[in-house]
Amino acid sequence: MAYDFDLYVIGAGSGGVRAARFAAGFGAKVAVAESRYLGGTCVNVGCVPKKLLVYGAHFAEDFEQASGFGWSLDEAQFDWPTLIANKDREINRLNGIYRNLLVNSGVTLHEGHAKIVDPHQVEINGERFTAKNILIATGGWPQIPEIPGHEHAISSNQAFFLKALPKRVLVVGGGYIAVEFAGIFHGLGAQTTLLYRGELFLRGFDGSVRKHLQEELTKRGMNLQFNADIERIDKQVDGSLKVTLKDGRQLEADCVFYATGRRPMLDNLGLENTGVKLDRKGFVEVDEQYQTAEPSILALGDVIGRVQLTPVALAEGMAVARRLFKPEQYRPVDYKMIPTAVFSLPNIGTVGLTEEEAREAGHEVQVFESRFRPMKLTLTECQERTLMKLVVDASTDKVLGCHMVGPDAGEIVQGLAIALKAGATKRHFDETIGVHPTAAEEFVTMRTPLAG
Ligand code: FAD
Ligand code: NDP
Repeated sequence: MAYDFDLYVIGAGSGGVRAARFAAGFGAKVAVAESRYLGGTCVNVGCVPKKLLVYGAHFAEDFEQASGFGWSLDEAQFDWPTLIANKDREINRLNGIYRNLLVNSGVTLHEGHAKIVDPHQVEINGERFTAKNILIATGGWPQIPEIPGHEHAISSNQAFFLKALPKRVLVVGGGYIAVEFAGIFHGLGAQTTLLYRGELFLRGFDGSVRKHLQEELTKRGMNLQFNADIERIDKQVDGSLKVTLKDGRQLEADCVFYATGRRPMLDNLGLENTGVKLDRKGFVEVDEQYQTAEPSILALGDVIGRVQLTPVALAEGMAVARRLFKPEQYRPVDYKMIPTAVFSLPNIGTVGLTEEEAREAGHEVQVFESRFRPMKLTLTECQERTLMKLVVDASTDKVLGCHMVGPDAGEIVQGLAIALKAGATKRHFDETIGVHPTAAEEFVTMRTPLAG
């Protein structure tokens, strides 16, 4: 049977655009549907605007530290609407770039909400199109628990468009988004409280990293409340929010920001018209080649709930395009050693196993750790300390994990990830000559393992 398209991609986010462009480049006839914004979450309400706000928040420290270097400034003033307007302009520019990328690579763009009507057919804006394969790349959506008053809370989707910087912000959650936005609000001058239900935030990250960040945020004056969860939120007559915790305590805030994970975006997608199955957590179930239980339908990115990071969605998009249209170049995505950064202030950068994971996996572990005051701060009052940590297998000398909390941690860990991917040993690290004076050189000068 002749189809309208070889591949119909639903969602022009990180993964969908990558798969569509590469598939078209391999000669396939491709369409992409997008209902909301070109570039998806990352470009519009994720990585990119978040990083711009983090840069904005970081200036507070720069101004504070400048006097140690002889600069004197009038009292610095911050204007939230200016930052948001400039951010919006940049995102608009990126939306245009994504449009050109798609159109110039020969992909047909359909703007509207796409619904699957059968395993080879999609409906959009009242028209139906057939396709040999359909790719679900619809991403995720913030999930706010339905406590009484949850309608008064916002998620990251709204935070990027607030009209004014709230004076008092309560951030709920202990994952990437909570920690990053707490840093943004705090850095920009809001009184910020981070509320997390467990003992210590950033579950799954290395224990030293979690503890170190807790100490650094506390030093900066952020109010960290662990073992705390919200029972209800009530709006008061003056518009402020009264937050009642499960332990009975009450807090007041002007904004309650929930960052409690993301669900797959499957709204009105028409999965009931297909044999696509969902996993236990509601994400689309796929095999190792991204095929769903319906053979003509594939899925990738946040909607499959494996690793919710843009570079992972990009890698999956490339793998799908190759698998379908260039099988001789197909290589599976390697989910081991995925480097990642949390753009908290200070940043976290990490790749490979945490000390806890390494021990659990049965490695005989050697740990190298260094904590120091970065050189840039020696002329300032700032007492921030950087943490660097290597987790090494004592019997093979292989470096299993690198972890850092400090300025530019993400930038530094990207290079280390290549070394780890190549199987670097501690001896390779030791024999690598440092770049002086940098913070990063500490990773090649740690000589004495921690006892025990
Ligand atoms: P998305 O990028 O979400 O794209 C899905 C697209 O599908 C959307 O544009 C949506 O509108 C569209 N769509 C959905 N349903 C339909 C439909 N029925 N019809 C038509 N179109 C539809 N990752 C990092 O690596 N680094 C970071 O710093 C980072 N920061 C983040 C910060 C925040 C606040 C958030 C929320 C996420 C962040 N992420 C980050 C994660 C990253 O954004 C995602 O992992 C990535 O965008 C996933 O790509 P995707 O292609 O799976 O989905
Ligand atoms: P995460 O899964 O990272 O964290 C969710 C947090 O919310 C956890 O601390 C979790 O606690 C807590 N939580 C979950 N449910 C509840 C609840 N009902 N009540 C109270 N707390 C709850 O999700 P995020 O929303 O922060 O981010 C989503 C994903 O987006 C990330 O996992 C990451 O993959 C990606 N991302 C990546 C970024 C980057 O690369 N820099 C930046 C931002 C997002 P517990 O640990 O106890 O389960």
